[in-house]
Amino acid sequence: MIYTLENHELKHAVEEMLFHLLPTETLSRADTAEQITEPYCRSILTEENGEAAARAIVCMDGVTQEAEKRASIAGLGTLDYKRTITELVKTTVYDAVVPFLPQTPVWGSLTGVRPAKLARGMIERGMTRGEAAVELREHFHVSPERTALTIRAAATAMEMDKTIGENDISLYVGIPFCPSRCYYCSFVSATTAQSGKLIEPYLDTLCREIEETAALVRAAGKQVQSVYIGGGTPTTLDEHQLARLLSALENHFDFSHLREYTVEAGRPDTITPEKLRVLKSASVGRVSINPQSMNDAVLAAIGRKHGSADVLRAFDEARQAGFDEINMDLIAGLTGDTAETFAQTVDTLLNLSPENITVHTLAIKRGADLTDKAAAAAQRETVSQMLDGASHALQNAGYGPYYLYRQKFMAGGFENVGWCKPDTECFYNVSMMEELQTILSLGAGGVSKRVVRETGWIERANNPKYPLEYIQAADRLANGKKKLLFPKK
Ligand code: SF4
Repeated sequence: MIYTLENHELKHAVEEMLFHLLPTETLSRADTAEQITEPYCRSILTEENGEAAARAIVCMDGVTQEAEKRASIAGLGTLDYKRTITELVKTTVYDAVVPFLPQTPVWGSLTGVRPAKLARGMIERGMTRGEAAVELREHFHVSPERTALTIRAAATAMEMDKTIGENDISLYVGIPFCPSRCYYCSFVSATTAQSGKLIEPYLDTLCREIEETAALVRAAGKQVQSVYIGGGTPTTLDEHQLARLLSALENHFDFSHLREYTVEAGRPDTITPEKLRVLKSASVGRVSINPQSMNDAVLAAIGRKHGSADVLRAFDEARQAGFDEINMDLIAGLTGDTAETFAQTVDTLLNLSPENITVHTLAIKRGADLTDKAAAAAQRETVSQMLDGASHALQNAGYGPYYLYRQKFMAGGFENVGWCKPDTECFYNVSMMEELQTILSLGAGGVSKRVVRETGWIERANNPKYPLEYIQAADRLANGKKKLLFPKK
């Protein structure tokens, strides 16, 4: 599809909305309306007498649809002005494209990754939960099911927010290594075959970063509320390396205020009784064992080097090691999976009865995987059935949704939802996704965020993305965290 931006430069807003609604279209921009051919989208903005008017004209298959919206911009500050015109442009593109779709997207015109944060903002600005739900449904066209999910996640976040003090922070520690690469992986993670020799120098650098960060945290008077070790696959480390990492954390940070300690064990083929014992003796309370699917043909098709039997074994070993908070991740939309085999996977997990089950939707690469419109529509329908079936089965089994997020390019424009048994919500997941508190991220690819809780202002400091770059930057790693913990007034 060709698009134009006329009298504005909100390229990201227009592209994001077009991809959200028409994921099979390859987008390209034309400079003027004279250069366009069907299918096209023209986005036009005019401003006059303190009022902005956005108009979108969309033409596909010989049919043209138009939408227009206006809003007052008189007296708005820069941020509010930008927010207003961006929303006008996005919603007019949405209104002009939707008549071409077989059905309204479940998230309506919402393209953001944190819908619950949006709802929380509405409630904090004075709306009741009911009014926020009406706003989501009527203004953003969100489906009744997704609206209920969003309001519930917002309510969980608001409750958790009350338990966070001014000086409370959380830590994320990244181990960007995996035993092999899954075909769908979009993370920065190196395989042990390619980069195994980097693991020891990586740990050396990480232990140094831990020591320096802990000193800054102490000096800033902050206390650590939760720790999450993720990846990659942290249990790619052997038991000695894991023990070294966990001791470094415990020796340098004060964990006397810790309310939650999670290790995303992840791949069952890396989990052993010895490693589980190391985690348990370091007071790790929560682990993740992620099958993604319990169908062996699907696991083979996505390049996992383990079968469903390995998941059952790892789960059993974790229970035997004393873990009573276990999360399991699933992905809807994997190659070769069907609504039926996905439902069987959900049932198998429910029989294991983990405390948390996180249902992800496969993120697709923009314009790459779904070039065939019929295949895209079929996949959207299948993923929709998978998610609806999982939601039904999980609720029947006593699980409730507690956090959710979306990614930019998800199959069918759906979402990822964390489900839990009562009172087993993962604090870190909610805090991180809803941006409730400052989180310092250690390791390659770590993005630390200082959250100013009164205003919602967020400041970031990024670590180098790849293990080698990270190791080479060892002398500079503390600088970003220092800036976040000691901001200039
Ligand atoms: S286990 Fe996770 S991080 Fe590692 S390759 Fe697979 S999807 Fe990527």
